[in-house]
Amino acid sequence: MAIQAKGRLNEGSMKLMEEAGIDLIIGRRNLVSPAKNFPLEILYLRDDDIPQTVAYGAADVGIVGENEVLERKEQVNIAKRLGFSKCRLSLAVPQQTDYSGPAWFNGKKIATSYPSILNDWLQKHQVQAEIHVINGSVEISPGIGLADAIFDIVSSGSTLVSNRLKEVEVAVTSEAVLVANPTLSPAKQAILDEFIFRLESVQRAEGKKYILLNAPNEKIGEISSILPGMKSPTVMPLATEGWSSVHSVIAEDDFWENIGKLKRAGAEGILVIPIEKMIF
Ligand code: ATP
Ligand code: MG
Repeated sequence: MAIQAKGRLNEGSMKLMEEAGIDLIIGRRNLVSPAKNFPLEILYLRDDDIPQTVAYGAADVGIVGENEVLERKEQVNIAKRLGFSKCRLSLAVPQQTDYSGPAWFNGKKIATSYPSILNDWLQKHQVQAEIHVINGSVEISPGIGLADAIFDIVSSGSTLVSNRLKEVEVAVTSEAVLVANPTLSPAKQAILDEFIFRLESVQRAEGKKYILLNAPNEKIGEISSILPGMKSPTVMPLATEGWSSVHSVIAEDDFWENIGKLKRAGAEGILVIPIEKMIF
């Protein structure tokens, strides 16, 4: 599996290994980390090289921004969208510009590190513009007279503001994705499926809590209707006659609302516990 050696995707990629319960043997200055407890080896690369490395089979899978996948146009399958490093590729112009729509870009010079995606956007909107490819610090080019506009990654937009630019068109949105070589052997595909299964078990548990409470037996029907759970709540008798312990899973989103309802329905001694993994 190829992952980014350093940069914005590295931390998220390493966190996925941890969530999947994969322990890596990490040495100093290593380009490769084997896993101790999973048939996997990590290759550390620059993100630009990951789509090609996976397409050519030097790595079977990789973790990379969708923006790089779209830019490189290599033959890889998106095995799973990973939900982190969300950003968009946008066109931005100097703040004082009276922007009228895509036609504004006709005859303009646009600086970018993503010429291929930009070219697709220009063609789609029938705009003739000059693409100026630069790697890094794209956002300063209008200020120093290198370009009229930029096409670059935006997330919060604060970089644009500090360079007196405004976002005027979003071409694509992106997040980290798990990409795979399209011709994986069945054995490798099975390893990939197991990896994805583990990630999904952790993801499912996110935003969910395990709840335990005590209730008088005659209130269990009402309390159960407030707790949807995975199937139905677990109900166990307490040593105190006429009382039970009720266990279930609830979503964090409507947590406080449900706690209020449970208390009004007669629940006592409510415990709420984080869930690490959920497997169906
Ligand atoms: P490398 O040295 O590996 O080539 P890089 O400088 O090209 O690294 P990074 O800045 O680490 O790349 O960004 C890697 C990826 O993270 C981008 O391709 C994009 O998918 C995502 N990304 C970049 N900037 C942001 C941001 N501000 N917010 C969220 N995600 C981002
Ligand atoms: Mg890069």
